[in-house]
Amino acid sequence: MERFDAIVVGAGAAGMFCAAQAGQAGARVLLLDNGKKPGRKILMSGGGRCNFTNMYVEPAAYLSQNPHFCKSALARYTQWDFIDLVGKYGIAWHEKTLGQLFCDDSAEQIVAMLVAECEKGNVTTRLRTEIISVERTEDEDYVLQLNGATVVAKKLVIASGGLSMPGLGASPFGYKIAEQFGLKVLPTRAGLVPFTLHKPLLEQLQVLSGVSVPSVITADDGTVFRENLLFTHRGLSGPAVLQISSYWQSGEFVSINLLPECDLDAFLDEQRNAHPNQSLKNTLAMQLPKRLVECLQQLGQIPDVQLKQLNSKDQQQLVETLTCWRVQPNGTEGYRTAEVTLGGVDTHELSSRTMEARNVPGLYFIGEVMDVTGWLGGYNFQWAWASAWACAQALVEA
Ligand code: FAD
Repeated sequence: MERFDAIVVGAGAAGMFCAAQAGQAGARVLLLDNGKKPGRKILMSGGGRCNFTNMYVEPAAYLSQNPHFCKSALARYTQWDFIDLVGKYGIAWHEKTLGQLFCDDSAEQIVAMLVAECEKGNVTTRLRTEIISVERTEDEDYVLQLNGATVVAKKLVIASGGLSMPGLGASPFGYKIAEQFGLKVLPTRAGLVPFTLHKPLLEQLQVLSGVSVPSVITADDGTVFRENLLFTHRGLSGPAVLQISSYWQSGEFVSINLLPECDLDAFLDEQRNAHPNQSLKNTLAMQLPKRLVECLQQLGQIPDVQLKQLNSKDQQQLVETLTCWRVQPNGTEGYRTAEVTLGGVDTHELSSRTMEARNVPGLYFIGEVMDVTGWLGGYNFQWAWASAWACAQALVEA
């Protein structure tokens, strides 16, 4: 039986960072993962360039039943702290858009940095390791039965993530441990995920697969995002849709403004005055992709007329169609393609300063396994770093 000060389950973003920080502060840490490689999601993230944080991190960018929970950790370990660390490793980065910071070169650099940080902290890392059971003894030790070994520690950190992308090792392990120790787990659902559409609409829009447009998208609860929308062969995607999917509940609609940068009414009036014989289709193609205009015309949403023939009632109808398109998604693509999992371990059960379970001394939850989910754009990794850092401080405090 091997004894450690702390055992961290999950060598993803949160687990590696927490193990490294605690190790560097002097704790003897064991980091476990059932996968072949550490940081598998990091490697896939940001199209292989890892959007590792965001310059505009703020608590309002996180969804949780307890919106105050994330504030303390985000304030104590900020995006600037992580940017500093990335700088120390000489990793070049750039802002892509909306404060989203990506590696210039490769996400592998972030994983290599975290591995190096773990080595600096003398962390013992065991990959391809199945955890068969977790028990807490009367002496307040956590005893983990692994395939081929038994390991013990006074502190157990669960950093096993959510359910998104089972192909990258996602599992319900963290929720099961939470339930085993009597913690409430809130219902989970896929977030940052494409929408699927009902049959007739899907078939009608399939010709648009690959078309991307700037948009403003609004959920029924009033949440708004201004980002690009992408038509796909399964439905709707792109950053606008991924963002709003986290605020969408089954059965609800979303409203889409396909012309957020244009006052369509004024544009049509102006064009009518200048070119009365111009077709409405060609006029709209000045503002929207031609394929989209043609498709909407075939669907009868855009009348086949010259501008001079467009009466004010039809113009109003057209403006409504293009700036307030109401779509009722059939569903989402689910955990298979979702970037995150909403819900999870109820944060009311945890200390926001240490991430320790209030009623189970020595048991900690960090990262995505808990009910804190960020927007698209580096917010989720920042939560992984910040919650891991807060936990690591607590691991070495006592
Ligand atoms: P994870 O990174 O999921 O790590 C959990 C670890 O636990 C995994 O290594 C897993 O193998 C291990 N594990 C699970 N079950 C067990 C078990 N039973 N036994 C042992 N080990 C186990 N966020 C951003 O901020 N920016 C991005 O660019 C970005 N891109 C993304 C791209 C993709 C394709 C995906 C899927 C997600 C992306 N995200 C991004 C979200 C981000 O990856 C997660 O929020 C983040 O990885 C969560 O970190 P975590 O450490 O909590 O969990």
